[in-house]
This record gives sequence, C-alpha cells and structure tokens, in this order.
Amino acid sequence: MARIFCVANQKGGVGKTTTCVNLAAALAGAGQRTLLVDLDPQGNATMGSGVDKRELDRSIYHLLVGLAALDDVRTTSPSGGFDVLPANRDLAGAEVELVDLEHRERRLKQALADAAEAYDFVLIDCPPSLSMLTLNGLCAAHGVIIPMQCEYYALEGLSDLVNTIKKVHANLNRDLKIIGLLRVMFDPRMTLQQQVSAQLESHFGDKVFNAVVPRNVRLAEAPSHGMPGVVFDPSSKGAQAYMAFAHEMIERMKTL
Ligand code: ADP
Ligand code: MG
Repeated sequence: MARIFCVANQKGGVGKTTTCVNLAAALAGAGQRTLLVDLDPQGNATMGSGVDKRELDRSIYHLLVGLAALDDVRTTSPSGGFDVLPANRDLAGAEVELVDLEHRERRLKQALADAAEAYDFVLIDCPPSLSMLTLNGLCAAHGVIIPMQCEYYALEGLSDLVNTIKKVHANLNRDLKIIGLLRVMFDPRMTLQQQVSAQLESHFGDKVFNAVVPRNVRLAEAPSHGMPGVVFDPSSKGAQAYMAFAHEMIERMKTL
C-alpha cells in the first residue's frame, strides 16, 4: 500500500516543489515506486519533472472534476524515473468548480484510491495557500512534510499550517500526521539561521528531519533542464542532502 505524503506550506518560494521533485527522484533512484501529484496550477513540479505543462491533453484538473480517469492523466518523468499526475493553469479553475461537487474535499483521495497498490510513495506538491486544493491534498494524505527556511517569520507561518492540519485531522482525516519539518535553503554561515534551526529542534524534537538541505545553486538550475537536481548533478551538496532525506523517509516509513 502506498504511503501518501503532502508537501505543504502556505508560503510561496519556500522549497515545496524542489523538495517534491527531488524526493520523488531520490526515492525512485532507491528503487521505490513513486508517484508525484502536482496540485499547483503553476505546474512547476510538472516542468521540473521534465513534463511540458503546455502540451498536456489531460491534467490533474480533469481527474479532480471527473472528466478523466487516472490512467488518462498519468505520465512518466523521463529524467526522474517516477510517475506524474501533471498540472497546468487549467487547475486554477478547479478551485471554483469543486465547490459545487459532492465530497469536494475528497476528490483527490477518491482519485488516488486506484493507485494505492501500484506505488510505495505518493508525494503531493501543494500550492502556496490553504485552499480547496491544499485541503484535497491533506484529506488524501497519511502525513505532511513541511519544508521551511530557518528565518525569523518561518515560525509564525508554521502555526497557521499546524492549526489547519489539526482541524483536518479532527474533522476530515483521522490518519493525518505531521511527519516532519525539513530545513531547506540552509546557510550555516548565518547566525540567525542556526538559531532558528536550534529553536526548531528544541520545539519539535524528532519531528525535525536530520537531513538539512543547503542553499545550492545546482538545485535551482536543474528545473530549466527539465530534471530533478538529484539527476542533474548527483554529486552536488543539494542533491546529496535530498538523497539523505529520501533514505530518512524510507526509514521513517517503517515506524509509521
Ligand atoms: P515553492 O514550491 O515552495 O514555491 P520552490 O521549490 O519553487 O518553492 O523554490 C523557490 C525557488 O527557490 C525556486 O527558484 C527554486 O529553484 C529555489 N530553491 C529551492 N530550494 C533551493 C535550494 N536548496 N537552494 C537554492 N535554491 C533553491
Ligand atoms: Mg511550488
């Protein structure tokens, strides 16, 4: 049975998509059957997986509103070795259309039911909001992975997200857990980042992943080549960190 994880943080530009794409590729590289679900109308995870969002006949939008089946939408990342449910701007319309549908917050969960047997990991890249799309992601998932930068305001944003997760857990999805916080774009030369990082560890204990992803330009360059960073430059510090993170996830799965 697939373990389903949402990569969520309502802030934009915090490394959700980079984490999703690289974790997917690193898991696939470690022999795990992996599906990446792009739930952001920006389609960055789709492009970063090497799938052209401008050339899709069907996307996750069609799946969510019931216009297509899983197999009509599913494609493969040519560079990453994992499967993708791709997204593009069509998905922005789903936000409005879903409101009129039955079980509107469970559409993704229902859509993924058919995929559960085929994968070890399903990773959902959420948009930068606590919207109906993110709610669909949280309802479909067993756990949430929260990427965050070790900045002063990061902790503030975290409490909104944690409250949303608590509400979803109480009302919609009893399975949902916070799996962990992943420190990304980390710069150890900055004292403030070290302080926030230490605060996170003392507050959240073993909910903070051991792997720390450094700020690394190779990770930022990879999407323009349609490749995950771990494939584009496997020896870079950023790629190495995501590979370590993938192994940590595989280990944590055993204790879930
Ligand atoms: P989000 O999905 O949360 O909006 P992204 O993953 O798209 O965030 O990251 C935002 C920007 O930061 C992108 O340009 C990405 O390439 C860059 N980026 C992400 N992680 C790193 C990193 N560890 N080092 C350097 N650049 C990064
Ligand atoms: Mg993103």
